[in-house]
Amino acid sequence: MRLILVGPPGAGKGTQAVHLAAHYAIPHISTGDIFRANIKGETELGKLAKSYMDAGNLVPDSVTNEMVKDRLSNPAFGDTGNGFLLDGYPRNIDQAEFLASVLNELGTPLDAVLELEIESAEIVTRLSGRRTCRGCGTSFHIIFEKPAVDGICDKCGGELYQREDDKEEVVANRLNVYSEQTAPIIGYYRSAGLLKVISALGEVSEISARAISTLG
Ligand code: AMP
Repeated sequence: MRLILVGPPGAGKGTQAVHLAAHYAIPHISTGDIFRANIKGETELGKLAKSYMDAGNLVPDSVTNEMVKDRLSNPAFGDTGNGFLLDGYPRNIDQAEFLASVLNELGTPLDAVLELEIESAEIVTRLSGRRTCRGCGTSFHIIFEKPAVDGICDKCGGELYQREDDKEEVVANRLNVYSEQTAPIIGYYRSAGLLKVISALGEVSEISARAISTLG
């Protein structure tokens, strides 16, 4: 299964991606996670990405595209034989076109693009309560997905923190960036006959079941 998850920040892409990647036995490739790992590791890529991310803006396409191309085609990873799930990429039409050319060269076209649909009022509630593990990147929510112990990751015991870009001032900009730059890819994939849409409301397990029954 070669799949893209699309939806506004806070739609639950990361959470669903983990479930769907396990279900289809494919790697979960999140450009946001790759950037955050580079920031944590203080790499050149991390230093470059940080200012864009903290402001809720997109990292330049030249950087992001090459990073994804390498992730999908470098045999050093060698884990995309069964397919892949892209989460947070592409985020504009140019990235979508770049991805199409990479997949065309590889001879591995997309199977589907799954849109998680949600209203903006709900997004703000979700993002402002989100807490992320510094260790393994797992997301929790202070109301909807509480960790067993406040401030501590259930999975790895790491410290939970609020992402700089989940703070209220930045969320508004991320939503603008989504509607101006990312939302157009939905029409692009609809025209290509690849788009499937599900509601992102409900329990995590309900949404996964919805996704799997839609994707087949
Ligand atoms: P995410 O974890 O997907 O919400 O991404 C967090 C941030 O990483 C975004 O707000 C962007 O600054 C950056 N980012 C992630 N994916 C991309 C992408 N495909 N293109 C450009 N910037 C990205």
